[in-house]
Amino acid sequence: MLRSRQCSSVEICSSIIERINITEEKLGAYITVCNDIMEQAAAADRKISAGGNIHALTGIPIGIKDNISTKGIKTTCASKMLENYTPPYDAYVIKKIKKAGMIITGKLNMDEFAIGSSTENSYYKKTCNPHNGMYVPGGSSGGCAAAVMSGEAVMTIGSDTGGSVRQPSAFCGAVGLKPTYGSVSRNGLIAFASSLDQIGPLCRNVKDTSMLYSLICGHDYSDATSSKRDYADFSENLCTDVRNICIGIPEEYFGDEADDCVKEGVMTAVKLLESKGASLKRISLKNTKYAVNAYYIISSAEASSNLARYDGVRYGYRAEHFDGLTDMYVKSRSQGFGSEVKRRIMLGTFVLSAGYYDEYYKKANNTRRLIKQEFNEAFKECDVIITPTYPGTAFRLNERKDNFLKLYADDMYTVPASLAGIPAISIPCGYSADGLPIGMQIMGRPFSEQKLLDIAYAFETISGGINYMSDKFMSGGGHNAGI
Ligand code: GLN
Repeated sequence: MLRSRQCSSVEICSSIIERINITEEKLGAYITVCNDIMEQAAAADRKISAGGNIHALTGIPIGIKDNISTKGIKTTCASKMLENYTPPYDAYVIKKIKKAGMIITGKLNMDEFAIGSSTENSYYKKTCNPHNGMYVPGGSSGGCAAAVMSGEAVMTIGSDTGGSVRQPSAFCGAVGLKPTYGSVSRNGLIAFASSLDQIGPLCRNVKDTSMLYSLICGHDYSDATSSKRDYADFSENLCTDVRNICIGIPEEYFGDEADDCVKEGVMTAVKLLESKGASLKRISLKNTKYAVNAYYIISSAEASSNLARYDGVRYGYRAEHFDGLTDMYVKSRSQGFGSEVKRRIMLGTFVLSAGYYDEYYKKANNTRRLIKQEFNEAFKECDVIITPTYPGTAFRLNERKDNFLKLYADDMYTVPASLAGIPAISIPCGYSADGLPIGMQIMGRPFSEQKLLDIAYAFETISGGINYMSDKFMSGGGHNAGI
């Protein structure tokens, strides 16, 4: 419609601003809304009018998770530590987004430093689930999922270290892709656990997801782990034929810990794909049970190292009153970080300490290798593996505030793909009885994103997709209800 001038970017962006004005107070998805959205839109319209080689996403508004560096726009990681931090440069993905002429709407809420599963660890605000305001949107990219599914952005990008793109997508009914490790540059992504972090799109449907992924993937010399390969345009090659696909169903992902409605929802979706010609194969991934333990040791170890830079000296929060250098470190870090971040730093420091390194960190790394090998073996028997994204649907705000072990344990379906570095997508496949979306995860071999997107597209096409513009949270309360 933009190309054929049936609408303009200015019109699209006005509708987004209008939506933000109506819903944001209750939803709480943004930490920062950009004040130059209309200027950006006018520039995109001029670009489109000038004609020539215009990118398909020119003029489309996109929201950015607040741990992705944006030049001149505050990037807080939802932490008090970075409350006043404005990056002097753009992340690699932001450069690509700007070059394509997309409109940056603002920076989205998240768990502090991407650590968490509900967005409740944000220093700034709580975000609610667009399907019911009394429920969390998931995390850590909860602001992304809530914004895109409530119409406060057309597309978003988040980051996934152990499930932070996929799990909020599942909770809010979005499509979320965690790409193969190394396919999207981490340059400018504020690090949580560098060997696991990946930037990925959260969108309303598979086509949008594939267009955005096509834009942001690619080799970048400034990220040493960035893969050197050429990528085709994933959205142009989307295909709904699943006849030659063998789907692996691992028994370990359908155990007692998962809600019946989640297991049924996913299996109904799988049966639908089978009816279109895909074949099913029961498989076993025995090392899955060690994945959560290995993930929490490795990610905390890396987090403790990455977060050591916030010492009150160079940038970030510095305590006002202190007595000498050590006291300044202690006070700045004690006051600047929230409790979950501190818990991970302590856990990470512990597992890396002399005497415990071999017992925990090294063992966790060996376990990681075994999990990766097990996936390699499984992919000799099947093309993709389908599982639930999360054992349940969204939970209530405050419900798990003090139950961090339950939160850790429930990452069991998303962390294996992170440890193995393989791509995984979450797509909505139905609702629970109380109207909350159910997420289905499709995992594949490294760099098999096209296949994952194809299967997701096939399912979306057959099932008719999900109603994205949910307004239920408006009547359901929200974290600001009653205020
Ligand atoms: N929930 C996981 C954690 O808290 C994953 C977070 C993420 O992927 N950034 O570590």
